[in-house]
Amino acid sequence: MATVQHDLNADLHSHSTASDGTLDSATLAARAKANGVELWALTDHDELAGLPAARAAAERVGLPFLDGVEISVTFAGTTVHIVGLGIDPANEELAAGIADVRAGREERARQMGDGLAQVGIRGAYEGAMKFAPNPLLVSRTHFGRFLVASGVAPDMRSVFGRYLTEGKPGYVEHRWARLGDAVRWIRAAGGVAVIAHPGRYKFTPTEEYALFSEFQAHGGEAIEVVTGSHHAGDIAKYTDMALEFGLLASRGSDFHDPHESRLDLGLQPTPLALSLRLTPVWSRWTEDELRAKPVAP
Ligand code: AMP
Ligand code: MN
Ligand code: MN
Ligand code: MN
Repeated sequence: MATVQHDLNADLHSHSTASDGTLDSATLAARAKANGVELWALTDHDELAGLPAARAAAERVGLPFLDGVEISVTFAGTTVHIVGLGIDPANEELAAGIADVRAGREERARQMGDGLAQVGIRGAYEGAMKFAPNPLLVSRTHFGRFLVASGVAPDMRSVFGRYLTEGKPGYVEHRWARLGDAVRWIRAAGGVAVIAHPGRYKFTPTEEYALFSEFQAHGGEAIEVVTGSHHAGDIAKYTDMALEFGLLASRGSDFHDPHESRLDLGLQPTPLALSLRLTPVWSRWTEDELRAKPVAP
């Protein structure tokens, strides 16, 4: 087998208009290629609808591509995101599982609108829906964009802090998928399950240990070490945890929008390679499997 490239410019976490990104998948593919991405995955929240167009666009620009998804999970009372990479987008078990996860979003969004109305912000549900290109996938991000556009808060960071996080008027407790189910759906679809941005969760060390060991017991294989959400200290910590647990390491920007996101596709401007001590998640596929197909006539 060929040596695994640790400094591959892999970006295995990004969002399109099929969830809460602002660019469509063809625009993302072109942007990834222009930014020097060498392996790209689209990982929309609880949704596979953007994948066929993403793959077609990636093939047109000669960009190796993995089909992906980011599943919302509730673990120990906290929302955790599990990315699936290399999934078969036609798999029925995965499609049915995430359809159930999506189904709860509509009612949650109405309740978020009610919560915001109680502090005098009218029409937030309807407003958020106008910002949601996929009506089946309305998220806090769409509420955030509506609230910024209406001048309620200056930017997404402050809007989340003031209105959309736990204890704030637009926040609604929600029960997402179970960890074991999310991992099982991803594996059923032939994919690799990855704990997304572990540094973002506010777990105690005991809870975090439980998350990692249960994830692994269910068949989860990787964690994101380098992500747009991690600072240097997080990268060092999760490098050590990947080694301790024997988990593969992933890398992705979590790009949503050119202005909102901290890092662009390909993690520009700083190249953030994985430590040589880690086994990159892309070692799970052969070069042949990753190679972009020739452009269709
Ligand atoms: P939801 O799945 O509806 O709970 O929305 C979660 C999404 O909100 C995440 O995937 C991010 O895109 C976005 N988000 C969460 N926290 C923040 C934040 N502090 N600032 C900006 N966007 C955020
Ligand atoms: Mn998002
Ligand atoms: Mn996430
Ligand atoms: Mn994401």
